[in-house]
Amino acid sequence: LESQLRQAQKMEAVGQLAGGVAHDFNNLLQVIMASTRFARETLPSGTPAAEELAAVEEATARAVQLTRQLLVFSRKQLLKAEVLDLNRVVEGVTPMLRRLIGEDIRVLTMPGASLAPVVADPGQLEQVLMNLAVNARDAMPNGGTLRIETANVDAAAVEALHRGDVVEPGAYVRLTVRDTGVGMDEGTVARIFEPFFTTKASSQGTGLGLSTVYGIVKQSGGHVWVTSAPGDGTRFDIDLPAAAAPAPSGVAETAAPGVGRG
Ligand code: ADP
Repeated sequence: LESQLRQAQKMEAVGQLAGGVAHDFNNLLQVIMASTRFARETLPSGTPAAEELAAVEEATARAVQLTRQLLVFSRKQLLKAEVLDLNRVVEGVTPMLRRLIGEDIRVLTMPGASLAPVVADPGQLEQVLMNLAVNARDAMPNGGTLRIETANVDAAAVEALHRGDVVEPGAYVRLTVRDTGVGMDEGTVARIFEPFFTTKASSQGTGLGLSTVYGIVKQSGGHVWVTSAPGDGTRFDIDLPAAAAPAPSGVAETAAPGVGRG
């Protein structure tokens, strides 16, 4: 299970990386394509230079094809958004979390009442919870408590917590994951969402867990905030926008801004 999780983290990171690179690369290829065509068209056809440029165009067109495939791959992997109840996601994944973190750590869930639905990929949300739980376990080598809570909040509450973030008005659903572990100093807190940042031995940590969490939350239009101090445990608050009231026709639209990159 552990190595499966690590593998999933790597795949997620590679997928995001590939998608990002493909997107930027595609823009550059478009420039090469346009300039080459322009240069070729200024030359009389059939000249050696024109033929060379035609070959460049052809190779560029193949490269465009390739990057397009990469984009499709990374998007497919990243987005299967649906309207869902966060409480049910938590409930569904909790037995697995219990197995993952062992018997020395108590897992408490406190589902918020009348929770608003969110639009997200349930598989991604499970991954968020697993990554946070594995970190919590590592932070509580002598046991402790992992608490998972959900609640409805409004934009003002989101703004108050996630200082500096631009917060769209509306309703949000907050997922809070707390542990009673070793906590973190300020220097660590400042870097935890960086890809490959880890304080663990290389056999233990990839440094991809929280950057994946961050990517998923941002893709879902949400915000993530961490509160921690050495010896005081750690708390993650994830605020996801609530789905607009009449769900079915609104799904695709709500999900769209998270899909495209520029
Ligand atoms: P990894 O777990 O592979 O190190 P992450 O991105 O998940 O990568 O975490 C980065 C770092 O953040 C960890 O190495 C650890 O120092 C710190 N960290 C994350 N979660 C917690 C937590 N719940 N308590 C204490 N430290 C944490």
